[in-house]
Amino acid sequence: MLGDTIAAVSTPRGKGGVALLRVSGPDAVKIASRVFRPRNGKPLCDAVPRTAVYGEILAPEPSGEWLSVDDGIATVFLAPASFTGEDTVELCCHGGILLTETVLTALLTAGARPAEAGEFTRRAFLNGKLGLSSAEALGNILEAGTREQLALAHTGLRGKVEARCGEIYDRLRNILASIYVKIDYPDEDLADMSREEIVAAFEVCEAELLSLANTYRTGHAIAEGISTVICGRPNVGKSSLYNRIVGRNAAIVTAVEGTTRDVLTESAALGRVTLRLFDTAGLHETDDPVERIGIERANEALERAELILAVFDVGQAPTEEDRRLAEALSKRDCAIVAVLNKSDLCGAEDEFYRKHFKHRVMLSAATGEGMEGLTALVEQLFTDGKLDSRRDAVLTNARQHASALSALEAIRRALEVLRMGYPIDLSCTDAEYAMEALGELDGRAVSEDIVAQIFSHFCVGK
Ligand code: GDP
Repeated sequence: MLGDTIAAVSTPRGKGGVALLRVSGPDAVKIASRVFRPRNGKPLCDAVPRTAVYGEILAPEPSGEWLSVDDGIATVFLAPASFTGEDTVELCCHGGILLTETVLTALLTAGARPAEAGEFTRRAFLNGKLGLSSAEALGNILEAGTREQLALAHTGLRGKVEARCGEIYDRLRNILASIYVKIDYPDEDLADMSREEIVAAFEVCEAELLSLANTYRTGHAIAEGISTVICGRPNVGKSSLYNRIVGRNAAIVTAVEGTTRDVLTESAALGRVTLRLFDTAGLHETDDPVERIGIERANEALERAELILAVFDVGQAPTEEDRRLAEALSKRDCAIVAVLNKSDLCGAEDEFYRKHFKHRVMLSAATGEGMEGLTALVEQLFTDGKLDSRRDAVLTNARQHASALSALEAIRRALEVLRMGYPIDLSCTDAEYAMEALGELDGRAVSEDIVAQIFSHFCVGK
């Protein structure tokens, strides 16, 4: 509910140099004044906005008496010039766990309500301080684990997706306005667009929506990550490849067959792309029950994989097991890359690999030689090299993509109606539907359920 004043600790729970608490809502300054006494003797409500004020932090004793518990800094932000768009006070105290909780309790005692997960950002969205895809980008900044994810999230936070949506939205509004004029005044030549011009304008929208929807391929690969399975018979170098990609010794690398018993998962950057890696037990028959569980999980991961890195040892001739794997993979329609490992032992590629795999990379997981070839290939398979994460509007989640696709489909229906020679006004419903879908994408018209769902993924204090 907007209208009340919320408070939360915005830094993670734990001991640290400083902790930051936020209070936002109409009574933010009044509530913070109860908890914070400026050292300069002036009331907090007279503090210069967006300027740090040094002072004492007070909290209630069990007796009800308010006593000083720490020294700290308060910064007042007055609506609408704050993150949430409401009056906000940020309080910094020392980063002790009990201390931070005591200050939060003091703020709640003074009249604030505990903030729900993501409520500060949700208020920022509801107050028009940022669009929905920007709010999602903010969530991605917090979650970013690779530099490319960070770059993409930062670009998203600057409202690039909303800007692109806005352009298409405005274009559609103009087309609709033109059509409505034609409907309302059929005998007068008021409309500024002819039927041909309306078709052409819809076609521009179609092309723009298609190109926006297509950015999700890259956005998915960077922001959500490609679920990837490394498979191959024992000892070909799967764990070594996994470690090479993850960049440290996460999996146990061993020369004893079948010791990678569980499925490890970890996200790691391979060039621009984020791989959600499943390091699997060798996909082979076994009687060991523990190992069998690992293999079952590996098979499940294999079913869901978007990318399979099939590892082979080029130091040896392909074995029967290698052939069986190649045969099994030929039935899969996800991206499959044959990783011809141990290139340091043998530089020749057997005809067998060329016959079975379209995408092949010769490398040495042990020395790292050839890894750049794998990086380039995976980037080429999953991203659009022309898209710049630091500049372009890129869709980063399935929700945004689904909205872009429904807008696109609606435009295509409108175009079909016009191309079949039906009256122009029959295209209006679809054009309006496309605008609705765009409104959902950028959040200008989105259902409360979707908003609640998006912000529930945020942490308290954000
Ligand atoms: P996995 O059973 O498929 O996970 O294979 P490992 O990664 O455990 O590697 C099996 C053995 O091959 C280990 O002794 C590794 O050191 C060795 N190995 C892995 N990659 C290479 C490579 O590129 N070159 C060479 N010469 N040895 C490798």
